[in-house]
Amino acid sequence: MATRGETGLTQASVRSTNLQLVLGAIQRGAGAVSRADIAAQLGMTRSTVSRLVDDLVLGRLVAEGTAVSGARGRPAVPLAIRAGTVVSLGLEINVERLVATVVDLAGNLIASVQRTVEVRDIGTAEAMRQLAGIAGEALAAAPTDARIVGAVLALPGLVDRDGTTVLRAPNLGWDGLQPVADWDLTTDDGPLPLRIANDIDCSALTVLREQPGESFLYITGEVGIGSAISLAGQLLTGPHGWASELGHVCVDPHGVRCGCGATGCLETVVGQRALLHRAGQPDMEAYLAALEAGDQTAATVLDEVIVALGIAVGGALNLIDVTAVKLGGHLGQLEPWLAARLADEIHDRVLWSDHSTIEITTVAEAPLRAAMGAGLSALARVTNDPASWIEPLIDR
Ligand SMILES: [Zn+2]
Repeated sequence: MATRGETGLTQASVRSTNLQLVLGAIQRGAGAVSRADIAAQLGMTRSTVSRLVDDLVLGRLVAEGTAVSGARGRPAVPLAIRAGTVVSLGLEINVERLVATVVDLAGNLIASVQRTVEVRDIGTAEAMRQLAGIAGEALAAAPTDARIVGAVLALPGLVDRDGTTVLRAPNLGWDGLQPVADWDLTTDDGPLPLRIANDIDCSALTVLREQPGESFLYITGEVGIGSAISLAGQLLTGPHGWASELGHVCVDPHGVRCGCGATGCLETVVGQRALLHRAGQPDMEAYLAALEAGDQTAATVLDEVIVALGIAVGGALNLIDVTAVKLGGHLGQLEPWLAARLADEIHDRVLWSDHSTIEITTVAEAPLRAAMGAGLSALARVTNDPASWIEPLIDR
């Protein structure tokens, strides 16, 4: 039996790492990088980069654009991630909806199917059965020659490290369940495996897609409060995948009991359900109208929200040294009302705030963020190891 020598193995792993670096540079370049740009960025020779790019093109992960003449030298061929050749299923189950999306490596939404359903009422097995149904509908819209990388399901809860068990999802009533066991979807390539992930981490991947490599604290809310932390483009998930739960940081030890069992969590003051309950309003539109009209209760609730957010966000920024705070969901809707005062509150609490500007911005509303982010998470199998995806196509 032939064995590969040490040198062979080392060469293979160097090539694999280099392919990953080049693919990453093309992804960050958003259709505007050439082989020469990448060589300069990565400190590789132009011929090495050219060989790697040629393989990524043959492997159908990268597409070449039309050459444009620069100020000097040969015309540069712009490189982009090739659309529609490698796709994944990005799924979401939330309190009132099932979502299936098909996303490609270029970040395009190829298809989406949604179903409105009270998930608590139908139970896990039925929810997973219906999810597989709409996933099949969405996949039918993918190009017939596309390769399907995998499927990831975003859920509002704590998920175990290997992506099979929901440890706690209080808003779904799914505790200690294995929805993966009820998943059954077969494609032409056989059964499609499923992994589960936290929905906010998935949403944060779509934010990162818009601003690759950024560091930020992302706080968003629907029923509760979700958050994610990106440090230089890597999500801070912790050794078990449980990090960044700002919603369950205590802002009032004498406060209200939270769904998690603790007292005075940020979510009990700032979560949409809690906020509307305190303000006596049926929905955010009504609450915003009450603020606009100068309603005293609405204003008092806003004061409480700002103080609570100031405590939690200020504490987080002191810990993680991040200067960008991104608000989504109903907190994004409140941004015009709270941003300036929240900035003051955070400024008072963050040790280094005199030396660096803290930016508070909103993340545009996008109902498919969690599902699309789940799809992007599935596609990481390709971006982390392009070699194993392109090898079957370039075996010469
Ligand atoms: Zn809590």
